[in-house]
Amino acid sequence: MTINDLRGVIKGRVFLPGDDGFEQATTAWNLTVRQPVTAVAEAADADDVAALVRYARRTGRTVAAQPTGHGASGDVEGVILLRTGLLNEVEVRAEERIVRVGAGAKWGQVLAAAGPLGLTGLSGSAPGVGVTGYTLGGGVGWFSRKHGFASDSVRALDIVDADGEPARVTAESDPELFWALRGGGGDFAVVTALELELYPVPTMYGGRVVWPEHRTREVYDTFLELTAEAPRELSVWINRFQPPGAPPMVTLDLAYLGEAAQGADLLARIDKIEGAISDSRGIVPVADLGAITAEPTDPVPSITRAELLTGLDADAVDLLLAKPVAPLINMQIRHLGGALAEPGDGAGASGAVTEPYLLGLLGLGLPHTADATRAKQDEVVADLKAYVSGRKPYTVLSPGDTASQSFSGGVLARLREIKRARDPHNVFRANYPVLG
Ligand SMILES: Cc1cc2nc3c(=O)[nH]c(=O)nc-3n(C[C@H](O)[C@H](O)[C@H](O)COP(=O)(O)OP(=O)(O)OC[C@H]3O[C@@H](n4cnc5c(N)ncnc54)[C@H](O)[C@@H]3O)c2cc1C
Repeated sequence: MTINDLRGVIKGRVFLPGDDGFEQATTAWNLTVRQPVTAVAEAADADDVAALVRYARRTGRTVAAQPTGHGASGDVEGVILLRTGLLNEVEVRAEERIVRVGAGAKWGQVLAAAGPLGLTGLSGSAPGVGVTGYTLGGGVGWFSRKHGFASDSVRALDIVDADGEPARVTAESDPELFWALRGGGGDFAVVTALELELYPVPTMYGGRVVWPEHRTREVYDTFLELTAEAPRELSVWINRFQPPGAPPMVTLDLAYLGEAAQGADLLARIDKIEGAISDSRGIVPVADLGAITAEPTDPVPSITRAELLTGLDADAVDLLLAKPVAPLINMQIRHLGGALAEPGDGAGASGAVTEPYLLGLLGLGLPHTADATRAKQDEVVADLKAYVSGRKPYTVLSPGDTASQSFSGGVLARLREIKRARDPHNVFRANYPVLG
């Protein structure tokens, strides 16, 4: 069978090199990532996914699922890229506190459906991110200090295995695969739907406060104080921003799972920092969670680098602030800890993240900025080397990173064993393969 036969295998659209729309269909969300794939297949439904996997198995080809391309690594040479965007059902079962999502659904859809019912899922900062890729890789979001990794809120997965057979995976039906799929990424099966636990949110308080650059030291000091004593319901992130053509700024991003008055009390010390340029603190409807950081929704050419930090103190802040943030656009630190450091029994492959902070360095990846962006990221990480653990959560790996940077030796060995047992012919390729 040739690759042209793929058109007769699935009901959905197939794009082959030379077809109108092929280039567009191969485009990742991050425009710096090229995807030299053999074909793009858009599944019309779960049966299409199974038919595609059986075709790949028969013809010795590899399938890489990619709903949105937010996590694209470029490691897709010669594969069939599987677009799952049409599998985008979202069904909230409020009385069970469960949401069932198709493999192509985005977090914004879940928040819009669950929020009005007083519930939330464990979304990250951007509503355009896909639920499946985020959750299979762990998923660190606003409520992770309270409720842990999104992957540990998975209750069941509908999958297609490497023989093209559909199956429902739960803790009882297939404990090994259930463990691997909760944090180990997309290397073990194609998921067609997920069932996730939802959590009550009677009220949420938060927002973003922005100050001019000369307040940076005060804002960092306040960040250290707030995060030293924050309850698990409170998450605080700090950003040094330098958008192109704008002056440098510093911001605090805030989310408190609870009453507005309590949230305002907890954050009162922020009021002592004078001269805020803007302050959006207030009650935040769950459906508007993405408004806190207002990240870009359109594809961008970006180069990111993430590092977990073993701690943060006044000396680390001195190092961070000794040099300008440019040519980076954003230097972000997220406060972690809480439930992320203490996952319950039965946690998946994400395990525990004991580092209390996550550093994120974002710059533009245009031809004339890419080298300077990478050099600056290397410089910041080298300056902070006493605080950098060398590990990073799977969802924030960047092109050039490997899965081994996310897992301890024992977890990686177990994931590799499961990969070899469940997908011996390498029908599936995750963005960061566990065998890579
Ligand atoms: C703007 C932005 C904001 C972000 N914010 C956060 C955040 O707050 N917290 C956080 O933890 N991460 C965050 N991320 C990272 C994000 O979680 C990862 O990039 C994640 O992989 C995106 O999932 P996706 O499905 O949208 O992306 P895709 O690139 O489409 O998929 C990523 C990978 O998931 C796997 N996968 C997806 N669907 C399937 C499937 N049906 N079956 C099997 N495997 C599948 C594949 O291996 C695929 O390569 C952010 C990324 C961006 C660009």
